[in-house]
Amino acid sequence: MFLTISTTGSAERPATDLGFLLHKHPEKAQRFSTSYGTAHVLYPEADAERCTAALLLEVDAVALVRRGKGKGRGGAPDAALAQYVNDRPYAASSLLAVALSAVFSSAMRGVCNARPELPGRPLPLRVEIPALPARGGPGLVGRLFEPLGWTVGAEPVALDGEFPQWGDSRYVRLVLEAETLTLAEALRHLYVLLPVLDDAKHYWVASDEVDKLLRAGAGWLPGHPEQRLITSRYLSRRWSLTREAMERLELVRLAEADDSDVEEIDNAVAVETEAEEKPTPLAVQRREAILAALRAAGASRVLDLGCGQGQLVQALLRDPSFTEVVGLDVSVRALTIASRRLKLDRMGERQAARVKLLQGSLAYTDKRLRGYDAAVLSEVIEHLDLPRLPALEYAVFGAARPRTVLVTTPNVEYNVRWESLPAGHVRHGDHRFEWTRDEFRAWARMVAERHGYDVEFVPVGPDDPEVGPPTQMAVFVTAQEAKAA
Ligand code: SAH
Repeated sequence: MFLTISTTGSAERPATDLGFLLHKHPEKAQRFSTSYGTAHVLYPEADAERCTAALLLEVDAVALVRRGKGKGRGGAPDAALAQYVNDRPYAASSLLAVALSAVFSSAMRGVCNARPELPGRPLPLRVEIPALPARGGPGLVGRLFEPLGWTVGAEPVALDGEFPQWGDSRYVRLVLEAETLTLAEALRHLYVLLPVLDDAKHYWVASDEVDKLLRAGAGWLPGHPEQRLITSRYLSRRWSLTREAMERLELVRLAEADDSDVEEIDNAVAVETEAEEKPTPLAVQRREAILAALRAAGASRVLDLGCGQGQLVQALLRDPSFTEVVGLDVSVRALTIASRRLKLDRMGERQAARVKLLQGSLAYTDKRLRGYDAAVLSEVIEHLDLPRLPALEYAVFGAARPRTVLVTTPNVEYNVRWESLPAGHVRHGDHRFEWTRDEFRAWARMVAERHGYDVEFVPVGPDDPEVGPPTQMAVFVTAQEAKAA
């Protein structure tokens, strides 16, 4: 595996500054042991005009397998070895990315004690990788690197030079050129995007991979047009990790954005949540079902309990029949986003009088929640540990006691219909449980009985004849109210 980084320079700004930046002296060939083999750093050319550093990784196949890290997703070690022996020694891949970060870690962080002024300075850069596995082809290579300021050359490599009729391999010869990037930025692009293109990480993806991705992606990944593909592939398509990373990236963007971008970000977040739930835009259907049920109940003062980022609060405010809307959540982070979404700080007085966001936990009774017409718990109960559920039940149905309570939660039976969901997984990493229709109904009926409510069930989303709808909703109405109706 082979990668070169070159720069050009002049007498005042010699190209050999690259050696300071990389913390590797141009006159010495150096070797480093990494977990997967030996990395060599050498400089095929080094003078004031041109300087090229080469990183060569000799992979130790035996060490790779012995460390048990050659397992791809679910693959048996020897299957991984077979794949590895076939092409790994020749191809740059995620192992090269690992070696880059091991050998050039200070450079990647932009640290240069000897010449502190250097790392911040963009320099003319050329990166060459003679054989890069690129799933998605040259087109994807362009979509990944060009938005970052690189000029991209990605030629497909023929399967066999002697037999052009065999067609192209999945490798490209990659040449990247840029004038406006710092070396640290360039290294961080490579560190993330090489494994993304390879799309087969060679070590087990642990949850600290999200932190690594966000660190290496700082300053360029949030807002990258292929952010979603990059995140999902980098995290070996692990659903819950990808979701966590996407949420954190949106928060970074939000923190960096000025106000004019907030609307756009809101839309991006909305699209994101819905894309997760393809093919039906379930989040929207759920909100519509909730609004319809609230209108049918004649509610005008409404609690959104566990309001999250405030999408439902926003929808409620658009309908003047809801005269008072309160969103409550335990998460300050979610409430901050909700408040920006609603532009609370710039709202007119009358509108502002209709809405309140409260921080609080549903695991405790809360006087502020008394006296409302209706409460919504949309996709909230499954975020509580089961032993905490009776406390929520008492806080809502026993203490706050609105006339109408709507509770939605995933129907776990429907999970087999989600193509992107691996068997046996819940839909969200933070779901403590997901219930069948029977389980949800049994719980809801018990709650209704204990607290003097009647309950009915409404499917949300396509009601599959076998497994039911993706979302199940319970509509509770106080027993007196039900009788009067
Ligand atoms: N209702 C929103 C958000 C659902 S996500 C929607 O339908 O899209 C679940 C929300 O419940 C999260 O925002 C989480 O912070 C909140 N939550 C979890 N436990 C909570 C608790 N004990 N008290 C209040 N909110 C809680």
